[in-house]
Amino acid sequence: MGKEQEVDVIIVGAGPAGLGVAVILKKLGLNFLILEKDEIGSSFRKWPKETKFISPSFTGNFFKMVDLNAITPDTSPALSLLTEHPTGEDYAVYLEGLSSYYDLPVYKGVEVHSVQKKGGSFVLATSFGEYTCTYLIWAAGEYQYPNRNSFQGSDLCMHYSEVASFSDLEGDERIVIGGYESGFDATANLVKEGKTVTLLDNENYMELIKSDSSYCLSPFTRDRIHEVMAHLDYEPETHVTSVEKEGANYIVKTKYSETFTSAQSPIDCTGFASSLVLINMLFLFSKDGYPLLNEDDESIETKNLFLVGPQVKHENALFCFIYKYRQRFAIVAEEIARRKKISRRTIDKVLTEYKDNNFYLKDLSCCDGECAC
Ligand SMILES: Cc1cc2nc3c(=O)[nH]c(=O)nc-3n(C[C@H](O)[C@H](O)[C@H](O)COP(=O)(O)OP(=O)(O)OC[C@H]3O[C@@H](n4cnc5c(N)ncnc54)[C@H](O)[C@@H]3O)c2cc1C
Repeated sequence: MGKEQEVDVIIVGAGPAGLGVAVILKKLGLNFLILEKDEIGSSFRKWPKETKFISPSFTGNFFKMVDLNAITPDTSPALSLLTEHPTGEDYAVYLEGLSSYYDLPVYKGVEVHSVQKKGGSFVLATSFGEYTCTYLIWAAGEYQYPNRNSFQGSDLCMHYSEVASFSDLEGDERIVIGGYESGFDATANLVKEGKTVTLLDNENYMELIKSDSSYCLSPFTRDRIHEVMAHLDYEPETHVTSVEKEGANYIVKTKYSETFTSAQSPIDCTGFASSLVLINMLFLFSKDGYPLLNEDDESIETKNLFLVGPQVKHENALFCFIYKYRQRFAIVAEEIARRKKISRRTIDKVLTEYKDNNFYLKDLSCCDGECAC
C-alpha cells in the first residue's frame, strides 16, 4: 500500500454531499482524500437528459439566503450555470468547477467494494487496492443503487435510473409505476414526447399537501403535471403487486385486481435502495429503514463512521434535499476536527461562514412541524 493510501479521513463519493463536506475539511487543514468510482457528479451525469432540478436555483447569497442548490455558502449554481432548474449535466459542471476551485483531492475511478473496521482503522477494499483511514465519511448516495424489489417481476421493467433520455424510448404509450417525484418526472417528460401515459401511484400524491418538501410533490412538478394532465391516465391509490409478460405484452397487476397492459416495458419509479447496502453491517437501522445516527451523524454502531447526504434522517426530519443535508456538513467536519485536536479557534473561524449562512443546523427541534399557511 502506498503512503497516499493511508490517510486520517476518507470520503467515499464525489457528489454534492462528499464535495460539500470536503471543502470544510480542506479549510480546517485536515488530511483527507475522496474516492470516486467514476467521475465528479457521476449520478447527475446519469440522470435522464430531460430531467431538471425541482428545487430552484436563485442567487440570494449576498442577503444570506444562499442558492438552494449550492453546497458551499460562497457559490451559486444559478450564477455559474445561468439557469433556475439545472439539468443533471449542468449540475455536474457546477460540481466540477467547485472541485477544481478548491483543489479537492478526488481519486477518480476508485470503486469501494467493502469496508471493514480493524482496531481503530477502517480498511477499504477497492478496485485500486486497499485504503485505510481513521475516520470514514460515507457519501456514496442513492441514485446508482436502484430498488429492484418493490414488486414481483420488477426485472421486466426499465428502472427510472436506466433512462438515458425519454426521447429514445420506443412506442407511443407507457405505464409508469410509482407516483413520487421520479414517477411524475417520467410522466411529464413522456407526455411531452407525445406518448400516452398511465401513471400508477400507490398513494395520491396530487392530493397530498404537506409543508415539508420531503413528503409531497414540489411546486415545479405540480406545474408540469397540470400542463399535461389532459393527456394522462392518472390512477391514484393503485398498488402494483406484479408485472408479467404474456406474449409481446406486459401485464401489470394491482392489489384490487385491476390490470393494465402495455406493449412496452413499464418504467419502475419506486425509488432507490441506497449505497448503504455495501456497508449495512456498520449501521443499525430504524424500522423504516434509515440508519441510526447520533447527533453528529455518526453511526451509533461504528465509531468514527459518519454519513452525509440524503439518507440522513433524525426522527421525522429527512435531509433528502441539498438545501437540507448541506446544513449537516459542518456538524460532521466540526466533530472530526475536534477529535483530531484542531484548535477551537481555527474551528470557530472556519465555521463562522457556515453558521452565518444557515449551513449549520444543530438543533433539530425546528424541523418537525407544519407551516401556518
Ligand atoms: C430525478 C431526481 C431529481 C432530483 N432533484 C433534486 C432537486 O431538485 N434538489 C435536490 O436537492 N435534490 C434533488 N434530488 C436528490 C439529489 O439528486 C440527491 O440528493 C443527490 O444526488 C445526493 O447527493 P450525494 O452526493 O449523496 O450522492 P450522489 O450524487 O449519488 O453522489 C455519490 C457519488 O458516489 C459515487 N459512488 C457510489 N458508490 C461508490 C463506491 N462504491 N465507491 C466509490 N464511489 C462511489 C458515485 O459515483 C457518485 O459520484 C433529485 C434526485 C433525483 C433522482
